[in-house]
Amino acid sequence: MRSIRFRLALWFVVILGIVVTAFSGFIYIRQVRDLRATAVARLELKARRLGGFLRFASREYFQQTPLLLPNDPGSGISILQEGDILAFIAPDGQVINNWGPIDASGVHQLAGGMLKGENGSNPSLMMIYARPSVDDSRNPYIVLLAPIQIEDTQVGYFIIGNPVDPGNQLPRLLISLIVGVFITLGVALFGGVWLADRAMRPVKTITHAAQTIGETDLSMRLNLDHKDELGELANTFDAMLARLEVAFERQRQFTADASHELRTPLTIIDLETSRALSSHRNQAEYERILKVIKSENQFMIQMVTNLLTLARMDAGQVVFQKQELDLSDVTLEVVERLAPLAVNEQVRLSVGDLPELPVLGDRQYLSQMLSNLVENAIKYSKGESSRVQVEAGSRETDRGAQAWVRVIDNGPGIPADDLPHLFDRFYQVDKSRTRNHSDEAGSERALTGVGLGLSIAQLIAQAHGGEIHVQSEGGQGSTFEVSLPLVASISAFSQSI
Ligand code: ADP
Repeated sequence: MRSIRFRLALWFVVILGIVVTAFSGFIYIRQVRDLRATAVARLELKARRLGGFLRFASREYFQQTPLLLPNDPGSGISILQEGDILAFIAPDGQVINNWGPIDASGVHQLAGGMLKGENGSNPSLMMIYARPSVDDSRNPYIVLLAPIQIEDTQVGYFIIGNPVDPGNQLPRLLISLIVGVFITLGVALFGGVWLADRAMRPVKTITHAAQTIGETDLSMRLNLDHKDELGELANTFDAMLARLEVAFERQRQFTADASHELRTPLTIIDLETSRALSSHRNQAEYERILKVIKSENQFMIQMVTNLLTLARMDAGQVVFQKQELDLSDVTLEVVERLAPLAVNEQVRLSVGDLPELPVLGDRQYLSQMLSNLVENAIKYSKGESSRVQVEAGSRETDRGAQAWVRVIDNGPGIPADDLPHLFDRFYQVDKSRTRNHSDEAGSERALTGVGLGLSIAQLIAQAHGGEIHVQSEGGQGSTFEVSLPLVASISAFSQSI
């Protein structure tokens, strides 16, 4: 009862039932009207011929039994046919003579009714529909009553009538129509259920497929090759599954990478503490071990902080406190903060032109974004002749005026094959380059990364309506460029919409 299939079929049958019944009713009513019109025309013709016949009849004619049936004076053919009624009535309503399927009392009743209809006055001519009690049929009759004049005196009335439906067509038509309606509805019900079943079959396939999709296996596809709405639904479903599969795989990879990256520092801490506890050590040895533990701990704190930032950004939970600020200002702050690191790594860190660049942004996050880029440049190009240059400026683009900051280094560069993946989470060009774990003093560890810095920097840039581009070739150094919309172009943009 609740299935769409059944309801569709039922609605189909109900609507078809209404239409077919209305149409059959129309045909039946038309047929009744046609029959009545023909019966009236036939009766008028018979009455006229009878009038002509009676004009020459003698007074005795009305009383003779059996009644001599009147003929058409012109053609000589009998005026009455089987089933017709003829009766002669005295002026007082008494039946003088009658012929046809109705007996004298039936005629008396009929005549009484018709004469009363004229309110006692002499009726001239009247025609009514009547249902006299005739033995074999309950056919309606059309009956005409007219006065009989002989030599200018009215001697009584004649009643002539014929059945509206002499061939008994109407009951047959009614039965045919009712049977026809029921057969049509029966066929429609079966056809409707069959059609609805066919139309709903792909829905069953989709439901079945959805039930078989496991929690971890999203590789299933419907591949429904239909060019209709259900095909569209199945394609949308497949596309959604594909997106979910990619997202699920990314999530799985992310968890695996994060666990993997956390295992190394945890193993180091475990090894170092075991070493410290295995036998008595001198003061210097304990200090070294504690430094290693601290360094690994800092690395983990940094990594977990980065993971949290990414998770919150993915969930849209980060609220950026955007305000108008000078991007050059933020850049200078970052360079000043990282200058000691550059000195430590023997990198010459210099600043080029820094014109005023008003942008709308969150100072803390923009600072983090630029720090990631400058820190990368320092740590990957460290060495005696290494240089890192930071410069800023603005330019007109088709998206409006943009501020840019470039971080240029003359380090090892990035091979072309790695460039498309550089901003992927946990992606590192050369793990051995970054994973030089705690040296004996344990001071290097804080500098190593796990491949999250650029992903975070890119998310921050995108959240500010900007982007990051990189240009690099292996052995040729790298240039990272951040571009953000200038405030002037932001207001021009908001005015234009
Ligand atoms: P990490 O935390 O490992 O530095 P990032 O996401 O910041 O992670 O960088 C991803 C990888 O891109 C790094 O592992 C490094 O191999 C490469 N990379 C980033 N910046 C530079 C650069 N200036 N020069 C050379 N390689 C770089």
